[in-house]
Amino acid sequence: MPITGQLLIGRARVRGQHGDFHAIDARTGEPFGAAFGGATMADLDRACALADEAFDAYRESTLEARAAFLETIGRNIVAIGDELIERCMAETGLPRARLEGERARTVSQLALFASVVRSGDFLDARIDPAQPDRRPQPRVDLRMRSIAIGPVAVFGASNFPLAFSVAGGDTASALAAGCPVIVKAHSAHPGTSELVGLAIQQAVQDCGLPEGVFSLLFTSRRGIGQALVADPRIRAVGFTGSRSGGMELIKIANARPEPIPVYAEMSSINPVILLPDALAQRADVIARQFVASLTLGAGQFCTNPGLVLAVDDHGLHAFERAAEAALAQVPAATMLTPGIYASYLAGIERLEAHGDVERLAKGVAGERLQARAALFATSAEAFMADPSLREEVFGAASLIVRCRDVDALHRLLGSLEGQLTTTIYLDASDGEAARGLLPTLERKAGRIVVNGFGTGVEVGHAMVHGGPFPATSDTRTTSVGSGAIGRFLRPVSYQDFPELLLPSALRTENPLGLTRRIDGVLGRQG
Ligand code: NAP
Repeated sequence: MPITGQLLIGRARVRGQHGDFHAIDARTGEPFGAAFGGATMADLDRACALADEAFDAYRESTLEARAAFLETIGRNIVAIGDELIERCMAETGLPRARLEGERARTVSQLALFASVVRSGDFLDARIDPAQPDRRPQPRVDLRMRSIAIGPVAVFGASNFPLAFSVAGGDTASALAAGCPVIVKAHSAHPGTSELVGLAIQQAVQDCGLPEGVFSLLFTSRRGIGQALVADPRIRAVGFTGSRSGGMELIKIANARPEPIPVYAEMSSINPVILLPDALAQRADVIARQFVASLTLGAGQFCTNPGLVLAVDDHGLHAFERAAEAALAQVPAATMLTPGIYASYLAGIERLEAHGDVERLAKGVAGERLQARAALFATSAEAFMADPSLREEVFGAASLIVRCRDVDALHRLLGSLEGQLTTTIYLDASDGEAARGLLPTLERKAGRIVVNGFGTGVEVGHAMVHGGPFPATSDTRTTSVGSGAIGRFLRPVSYQDFPELLLPSALRTENPLGLTRRIDGVLGRQG
């Protein structure tokens, strides 16, 4: 399928006239392939108008139709074949095996949301039947369901060009909820975005849905993304990326005459706590697992272990030596974009120049635009004194903080910002220390991992990929797993409605066969 660089606006393919840009080969930093035409304000307006027009019909499409649509998107993505993988490899520098795995994850994520839609549980249907004889006041008939929030703008991630981009978690959960989606393609992988966008556009057509259910805009200018967030027809935003980008979009959303939620997943350094008994028993093994997690995908994971906290004793020294040895063997790796590479280098140089930070090890040197993994250490006192040491260095860099005892470690943990994950390594006699840390761990993170690392993110029903600010802008939510659909729904109550006017999810005979809460009790009563 030739990549043309055209916008996808509803069913149309349109040449954007607001400045051209090219995909960049991650390995060479050179532009390649067809130019992408940037969207104009008129293109943006058309996409928003179509999404608004499609909303009422799409949100009331049958559960089966919507589930089938999500599955069709998955099939269409697979049908693109190797062209998608090869294009994505060129644009991101990520290896084939990783991208094939990510494609499978993208398709299974769509299938998960299809099953969520079919079950209808996300509608959260509730019926409090009328009690005309209640004294002193009769009770009204009150029924509730969740409805889609409205058209959603999605800003995909650079580091998951398939599973968290055009057809990724934000898009899948918004479409599952019944929201039309407009994606602002990430400029780091525009060709990949076009191919996946075409698969969704085709699925809209295959399934006979209104064309405005999906549009894809290219732009190299920040103003278009910002205007999308400001557009009154957009009702929510999904964003994965930098803290500065997320905060800017949140500011725009809050400044609208009618503010809207921005679900931004931003910055996290994912502290790893190594308790003394665990280190005494198996410092070597933990060090190897740590280095593997740290350097996975050139460290470009939002759950990358960027901070290690441990008591400064023999166990930690053994861990440091083993981690240094393992890290020194790690080959340099191409980063997603020359810009991300430059930020990584700047972060490393900042740590190297810091008077209280010791560089423990560096990975093998590579070619131009290839980043070397790096491991640093500092004291708890230095870490507490300098807020810049808490800043995320996106890539395979981590800082070990040597603490005097578990109490000092606990205080330091309590001073950290919100995180996507925390990890705690423990062994038999660490139980009491772990129990003491747990309330603080729960306050800090969306997911707490024991004896493992957070870099693998399972897509399921119990996954939380979220956490307190700045990990996300809304600590009550997750952007991975079936719970992500909740971000794009809102509850509506129907009081004393005649049966005929009720949505089918709330009709007394329960035509959809839903599990509903009748007077607070879950069941399938009709
Ligand atoms: P980014 O620069 O924030 O870009 C993300 C998306 O938002 C892109 O589409 C970008 O447009 C757009 N954007 C950014 N700032 C904007 C603004 N002020 N106005 C309008 N649009 C804006 O992030 P990135 O380059 O993809 O990723 C690198 C950083 O993101 C890393 O430093 C890392 O910390 C963070 N990150 C976090 C996670 C996580 O899950 N927490 C995941 C991945 C990355 P363009 O395409 O035009 O740049």
